[in-house]
Amino acid sequence: MSWQRPFKELNPEVEQLVVKVLEEGKGAGQSHEWQTLGSVTRLDCHNPLCQRGGVDLHHTLREMVATRRAELEDVKMCPGLEGGGPGAGPRHCLNRFAFRISLAYKAESDR
Ligand SMILES: [Zn+2]
Repeated sequence: MSWQRPFKELNPEVEQLVVKVLEEGKGAGQSHEWQTLGSVTRLDCHNPLCQRGGVDLHHTLREMVATRRAELEDVKMCPGLEGGGPGAGPRHCLNRFAFRISLAYKAESDR
């Protein structure tokens, strides 16, 4: 499907995409440091119990490109569910993602 193609291929006006994330929660590590993920369009959840977690950035990126926005910072909770153990129902994953997106655009004349 088209959304699996590289972001820059779909958005030729984008020179560079850099995503940084600070994940907090299970499996996220104790360092609490920003990680540079580079040119990615989704944030993976590292909670080993989490199912269908992670944050999809496509919608956010599309809006940024449409408005030529260069920087965006946001915080999102993981939308995934933790599979319950015996006798426990599923519950929401509590991992939290702070992220920063930087986009650089090509100059009009370079296209
Ligand atoms: Zn999760």
